[in-house]
Amino acid sequence: MNKRSDETKGAAQREADSPLIQLQGLGKRYGGAAAQAWALQELNLELMKGEMTAIIGTSGSGKTTLLNILGGLDRGYEGGLIMGGRELKSLSDQELSMWRNQEVGFVFQHFHLLDHLSALDNVLLPACLTKGRARAALSGVEQRARELLAQVGLQDKIDVKPPQLSGGQKQRVAIARALLFKPSLLLCDEPTGSLDSHTGEEIIKLFQGLHAEGYTVLMITHEERVSEAAQRVIRLEDGRLVSDQSQVQRSEKHEELAL
Ligand code: ADP
Ligand code: MG
Repeated sequence: MNKRSDETKGAAQREADSPLIQLQGLGKRYGGAAAQAWALQELNLELMKGEMTAIIGTSGSGKTTLLNILGGLDRGYEGGLIMGGRELKSLSDQELSMWRNQEVGFVFQHFHLLDHLSALDNVLLPACLTKGRARAALSGVEQRARELLAQVGLQDKIDVKPPQLSGGQKQRVAIARALLFKPSLLLCDEPTGSLDSHTGEEIIKLFQGLHAEGYTVLMITHEERVSEAAQRVIRLEDGRLVSDQSQVQRSEKHEELAL
């Protein structure tokens, strides 16, 4: 980008062009600095707003460790993690939990729903954790929760509790919950890992629809089939980034192999 065109851009465009997250030589050792084994090592990466990215790797390659760090659940890392222009470690605990509550939506393999609450109350859970200034934004939150449940196809399950829902329906509730505050980042840890392949495909289509709406989606998986749904695929092996390919590059590679 030359300087002149950069100057003529509006602030919103500049913000859209800047990375949502930057990892700079990020590393993680469980057990602190004295531990020899690295769960993650020397990761350099930029995640842009609006991308749908899959992180793929075999079991033990560091996927969950990375997701926990990206979601601000683990600040015991080495190197840098810049989020919206600020190093994550420089945030106070209160700033961090507010950021996580408002800006990050988590979706897990095992759904993490509360069985004694209805689908609607599960979706509203993040609103119960909201403190301080963010409380002012809560008017209309129940209406939004209902709309989200309708968006994920569960308008007739609003009052149903998780034990009466199928796996795919539970994951849809979890996705609606993750979307409650229109997060700038959706982090998904093996979101199809507990589902049969057909239901898994439906959930992936749901994420693709959210990506088309403008959400930034990062999902981790050990399944090639799931990663193919993403625009960008980052591969981890033994805690190191071994490849980072956009969909265009991958389809060119497929053509090469077909020749
Ligand atoms: P993945 O999600 O790709 O299966 P993880 O991020 O869970 O991988 O694990 C990466 C590495 O870190 C593995 O060698 C794992 O044994 C180790 N590890 C993960 N969590 C812990 C922990 N809480 N304590 C010690 N080692 C851990
Ligand atoms: Mg994992």
